[in-house]
Amino acid sequence: MRKKIVAGNWKMNKNLDEAKALVSEVVNMVRDEITGEVDVVLCPPAVYLTTLRQYIPTEVRMALGAQNCHEKESGAYTGEVSALMLKSIGVQYVILGHSERRQHFGETNAQLAEKVNRVLEYFMYPIFCCGESLDQRENGDYVGFVKSQLTESLFHLSPEQFSKVVIAYEPIWAIGTGLTASAGQAQDMHFELRQHIASKYGDEIAQDTTILYGGSANEKNAADLFAQPDVDGGLIGGASLKSREFTNIVKARQ
Ligand code: PEP
Repeated sequence: MRKKIVAGNWKMNKNLDEAKALVSEVVNMVRDEITGEVDVVLCPPAVYLTTLRQYIPTEVRMALGAQNCHEKESGAYTGEVSALMLKSIGVQYVILGHSERRQHFGETNAQLAEKVNRVLEYFMYPIFCCGESLDQRENGDYVGFVKSQLTESLFHLSPEQFSKVVIAYEPIWAIGTGLTASAGQAQDMHFELRQHIASKYGDEIAQDTTILYGGSANEKNAADLFAQPDVDGGLIGGASLKSREFTNIVKARQ
């Protein structure tokens, strides 16, 4: 059975007091209102991870994730954060290959393959982001493009390693734009990706792979998206900054 996950990507938002308040509110709401089997992952800015960990009681089904890590083990990489560092402060998930990192920081599929390796070496779960631009969707083989992101960054993994990876399909044209993929568009791509995974790792692993949708998901459209058979949860940006809305999205997934 694959895991249902709702992850919040806070991006570069909130000061420390606001971050503490947000995590406390989400913890309380999730503890009181969520009874189903859904893993909640909060991905605040890295600088807050150590502090915020103390705000998450062990009985609440909630984990911390980072938004990125460096691909090297350690060394002279000023300003960077390694997988070992994240592991040592209790981080369990690491978002990798978000389109904003690909766009603004030039991350490549080959570099992401290395980041995935580091995250797995330290027994954390990569949340590997993939997705096409609007131009690719309108004018190109966008399904082939997204499949190639998986092939180039993930298909070197052993089946055992791959089974730890969470995929997040995030069409770039839907991120932060208010333009959500329709439930049908999300389902079509998730189905294609699952087939692609099956072609490399077999049906059992493909069926067990958690594939999240991300891109302007909110409390209004979440239920529709999550009703799709291949949509296992969400990676939520803007709406994860509002505790009530984020919890409502988790509710829609439980
Ligand atoms: C994201 O950044 O991963 C994301 C899905 O953002 P938003 O929900 O704001 O579109």
